[in-house]
Amino acid sequence: MRAVTTSRDRRASRSSLLGTFSLVVLLLLVARFALLQCGARQTRAPASLPSAQEPDANPPRESQTDGGTPALRGTEASVSSSVHVALGVPRAGDPSDEYFLDERSFVLSYSPEKRLANWVAWQLARKHLGQVRRKDDFRADLGLPARFYRVKESDYLHSGYDRGHLCPSADRQDSAEDNSRTFLFTNIEPQLHELNAGPWEQLESYARSRVQGGALLYIVAGGLFSAPYPTIGNGVAVPAANFKIIVVLEPGQGPSEVDENTELLAVLMPNQRGVGDHEWTEYVTTVDAIEQASGYDFLNAVPERVQRVIEARPAALADLRSERHRGGRSR
Ligand code: MN
Ligand code: MN
Repeated sequence: MRAVTTSRDRRASRSSLLGTFSLVVLLLLVARFALLQCGARQTRAPASLPSAQEPDANPPRESQTDGGTPALRGTEASVSSSVHVALGVPRAGDPSDEYFLDERSFVLSYSPEKRLANWVAWQLARKHLGQVRRKDDFRADLGLPARFYRVKESDYLHSGYDRGHLCPSADRQDSAEDNSRTFLFTNIEPQLHELNAGPWEQLESYARSRVQGGALLYIVAGGLFSAPYPTIGNGVAVPAANFKIIVVLEPGQGPSEVDENTELLAVLMPNQRGVGDHEWTEYVTTVDAIEQASGYDFLNAVPERVQRVIEARPAALADLRSERHRGGRSR
């Protein structure tokens, strides 16, 4: 689908890409700092006000997924025992804009202010890769309390952006129900088509190829936002960049066995024009860089001394480049 770039093209564009991208990351850091400065004076987002337009639907799913205790609904405790966050629930520097949801197929932290997920986390094992057809049933997430705006189809209509999955549909093909949950709008965010169908998808395919090879993955993905951020539809924030962190466990290893030698993939991809001309391997970074830019502490259930080593180490690019085409083509 994309034009094939020669290695000369790629070399020529890499220096300008790095320049532009460094600038984007720098701007994000500045914006974040500015936000923290005025955080104390910030008024609560309108999204947190009770909505008069619809009664609380009180879907049965909520009581099944949020630990059973209404008091826990939306809190970190309602998701912390999920297998998908076995390496830790990402901890926000500023936790004022988080509503946690256990969707069973994955867990997430929802931002009522930005109207999309702060992050989505999921385990990916071979058992998740079945033959189920893509359901394509994009829909509002009724697991969100009615006082929050629930994003729907019309918010993306004619927006110029794809409905980009955080947890990909193809990572959940073991049952129709599991696949269908990936189409909840809480798992979707505005992505340029060239990112969604380009390097972002390449990395998704690569991750599945590792699982086919026997690896067990723990993945967290989300967006980074400029301040102010652009929106589409009824106030859905458009991320300036997307991050993804993939912890790769070897066959037979469990989440408690993450150590200094554990393989980690961390990428930061701009949601900007031109991104589709690049390979995902060009966006490899460190977890430390993503933690700095996002304000989150990831993998916090991993011993501190291990985090210090693996979060500072970018994936070995030479190995990745030679495996570039292992992933193949898939949605
Ligand atoms: Mn996608
Ligand atoms: Mn960490």
